[in-house]
Amino acid sequence: MKIYNTLTRQVEEFKPMHEAEVKMYTCGPTVYHYAHIGNLRSYIFEDVLEKTFTYLGYTVKRCMNITDVGHLSSDSDSGEDKMIKGAIREKKTVLEIADFYTECFKNDLEKLNVKWPEIVSKATDNIEEYIKIIEKLLQDGYAYASGGNIYFDTSKLEDYYQLTNHKVDEMVVGVREGVEEDTFKRNQADFVLWFTKSKFKEQELKWDSPWGYGYPGWHIECSGIAMKYLGEYIDIHCGGVDNIFPHHTNEIAQSEAYLGHFWCKYWVHGEHLNDASGKMSKSKGEFLTISLLEQKKYKPLAYRFMCLHSHYRKVLVFTYEALEQASIAYEKLKNKTLALQEEGILEKEAFDKYNILFKEKISDDLNTAAALTVLYDVLKDHSLNGTTKKALVDSFDQVLSLDLFKEEKKEMDKDLERYIEEKIEERRLAKEKKDYLLADQIRMELEKRNVFIKDTREGTIFEVR
Ligand code: AMP
Ligand code: ZN
Repeated sequence: MKIYNTLTRQVEEFKPMHEAEVKMYTCGPTVYHYAHIGNLRSYIFEDVLEKTFTYLGYTVKRCMNITDVGHLSSDSDSGEDKMIKGAIREKKTVLEIADFYTECFKNDLEKLNVKWPEIVSKATDNIEEYIKIIEKLLQDGYAYASGGNIYFDTSKLEDYYQLTNHKVDEMVVGVREGVEEDTFKRNQADFVLWFTKSKFKEQELKWDSPWGYGYPGWHIECSGIAMKYLGEYIDIHCGGVDNIFPHHTNEIAQSEAYLGHFWCKYWVHGEHLNDASGKMSKSKGEFLTISLLEQKKYKPLAYRFMCLHSHYRKVLVFTYEALEQASIAYEKLKNKTLALQEEGILEKEAFDKYNILFKEKISDDLNTAAALTVLYDVLKDHSLNGTTKKALVDSFDQVLSLDLFKEEKKEMDKDLERYIEEKIEERRLAKEKKDYLLADQIRMELEKRNVFIKDTREGTIFEVR
């Protein structure tokens, strides 16, 4: 497997620390609102990556956080608290907001066939972990208390900017537009590990700590959760490109300072999905969610298909025209795969050849577009029998997850539905009058039309087979 590593700025051969196991950490959502389809592009890319590892024979241990505290509007610890903003907007508590949007996020992932990671942990469930880390950072001189908060001292590191290619001028917190300067910091790049002086009167979630009643910064959450569940070393850490700085930069700083050694070997980032006006937003313009696409009659998997056509490291611009085209192509593809019939025995040589080709493409820095081309080549190859084609499509779909063999539930014909309901009512009346002969005749009449009924406590239900 070859993958582009942001840390070394090159495509590298992927070699996990333990031969057959991949320890993977992916940054999860801040659950203050629905995920937009840009956020979801990142989760689709991470899903394809995880499934590629599995396809290649690795066991994957993947962990993801759910941010329900500490993430401010600016990733550099300033601005409004996103969770409080959500709670005020909807006149609910922060916990209600978190639960509601976590559930929505889960549903979105399910619709997109994105596997729920093996370990998912909420930021608020790991407070002790962050306190333990911060205490050690203070003891070892990597952190300091100032103005009521605990900060990480970035000047204590030789190479704080290792992940960002040392674009220090662009990166330093304080020079970026809209970021107010925090005068309690010793260095501009320092970041908050623990807040006790909340600027937010409405701050609901606070915990006791050795430094006072307060709450953790956003960055420490991922370090704490990753180390707790995956141990001292991880193989691969992913997120969207906006996570490179400051979030992942800070994760590396505090984790390596705490552990006293190197932490994660591969840092892999997905490019953004933009809308025609540029950056995707939850507050401006059309808020593009999976539900909105569904309302407009687009299938979530058509969106997944659209994402797979572009490389994860390239910006993708969302337009309805592009989604429309992807939908048509997706339907055509499904028509082809659903029409495949088992015929003959598996042609082992051809099966292996195409699997190798697919493997080559997908393990070439996740070239999903080229991997899809292999799928089309299989479908076009007249020398292959149906059994072999089906087996290959099935094998590729373990990574692509496009439900290529799943029949859509057909919308039931309204006339048929009315007819069935009438017959069920007729039968109920017949039974009431103890006319069991008529009741049985009705049942048989329905069965002739492939309608099977069952009497339950809640009434008679039916299934069309
Ligand atoms: P958040 O819920 O804001 O913490 O973001 C969740 C994930 O979505 C993170 O991994 C971000 O890097 C990613 N992300 C944010 N905006 C976009 C976008 N426009 N396109 C792709 N990924 C994004
Ligand atoms: Zn994170």
